[in-house]
Amino acid sequence: MFSYWENKHFFNYDLIVIGAGFVGLSTAIHYKSRNPKARVLVLERGVFPTGASTKNAGFACFGSLTEILDDFWSMSPDEVVDLVERRYKGLQKIRKKFGDKALSYQGTKGFELIEGEQLSALDQMESINKLLRNIFKKEVFSLESETAAFGFSDRIKAVVRNRYEGELDPGKYLNALWQLAGKLGVKILTGLEVMEVGKDDGTVLAEDSRLNLVFNFSGKKVAICTNAFTKKIWPESDLQPGRGLVMVSTPLNFEIPWEGTFHMDKGYVYFRKIDGRLLLGGARNKDFEGEKSLKNEVNPKIKFHLEKLAQEVIFPGKRITWEMEWTGIMAFGPKKSPLIQKVGEKAAAAVRLGGMGVALGWQAGKELSKILDKGN
Ligand SMILES: Cc1cc2nc3c(=O)[nH]c(=O)nc-3n(C[C@H](O)[C@H](O)[C@H](O)COP(=O)(O)OP(=O)(O)OC[C@H]3O[C@@H](n4cnc5c(N)ncnc54)[C@H](O)[C@@H]3O)c2cc1C
Repeated sequence: MFSYWENKHFFNYDLIVIGAGFVGLSTAIHYKSRNPKARVLVLERGVFPTGASTKNAGFACFGSLTEILDDFWSMSPDEVVDLVERRYKGLQKIRKKFGDKALSYQGTKGFELIEGEQLSALDQMESINKLLRNIFKKEVFSLESETAAFGFSDRIKAVVRNRYEGELDPGKYLNALWQLAGKLGVKILTGLEVMEVGKDDGTVLAEDSRLNLVFNFSGKKVAICTNAFTKKIWPESDLQPGRGLVMVSTPLNFEIPWEGTFHMDKGYVYFRKIDGRLLLGGARNKDFEGEKSLKNEVNPKIKFHLEKLAQEVIFPGKRITWEMEWTGIMAFGPKKSPLIQKVGEKAAAAVRLGGMGVALGWQAGKELSKILDKGN
């Protein structure tokens, strides 16, 4: 039961954004910046955003050498280059907008560990550098001469350096977006799960399960930014969930002989140091089917694989104990590019950010806000 005042002031908006991850907040910010008078509402089911944006590993990356080579199996050379450019430029844009301090961005560079069976990738390094020259002007990938200095096991035959990658704190990035949205006058309501969207009439049905209340919002436009959780409100969307595991060790009682963001196995495995600890994650490719899940549960097969890598390859001979672990859900499709499109008379979506939403989220929000702006 709602009051006259509640009905008058809390239910009708120019734009309703569903989901307060990187993409949802970016969409709200871009739209509100272009339409300062617009009433913009963001609806988030969690108490704070509870999708991939707060669960990720904080790699400010755009693709390792073997990952880019692997992309050629599913994408044309132009598409591969375009995606690298979008990711790299996306990172530049958020650094410019929010500043490195606000994001805790560090340009520590990216590194990829190459095992014996991947050595042939090195033969293609120069042609990939050439392909990317228009974007970076200089060579992106180079071979580290002192592989032994990293202290990895002798399974690692070479280390490739990516001079343009870095790392950031995704919680700080999300807070920066949240603060800016608030400053611009975007209203954010949390703890409300959207159950249904009228894509042609702009109705948005949401539920507060704790108070057992149903809210019938109405938007002149609706933005769907629910990434892996999209099928519930847009069942035809071409995406599927992909879970990711991240583990953080207890503080290490030895000096870590490297810094930077590290990748292995075509980008499926990644690690870096945070506050004297090892952060290690990924390995979804060890059980693709099992990881097509929306449940935040740890897959023991993947956990075992990562633990083994830590002790046998990253810090051989050292005992690593783990302080915490968590999972987050990404969204994938037949191609690595995000799905950004109109989905009805009043609604449009930007979803399926894959494993690169740190780099792509801000621009995806901008593109979506432009689609929503059309026809105003
Ligand atoms: C383990 C892991 C590690 C990763 N590491 C990296 C990395 O190092 N670098 C990188 O670039 N990317 C990484 N990613 C990917 C990146 O985090 C995502 O691409 C990005 O966060 C997607 O942002 P989003 O806003 O589209 O989705 P999300 O952050 O998932 O946001 C969707 C939001 O919608 C809300 N929501 C869903 N359904 C509803 C509903 N019905 N009603 C209301 N609200 C709803 C959710 O609670 C959520 O807050 C990683 C992801 C994971 C899971």
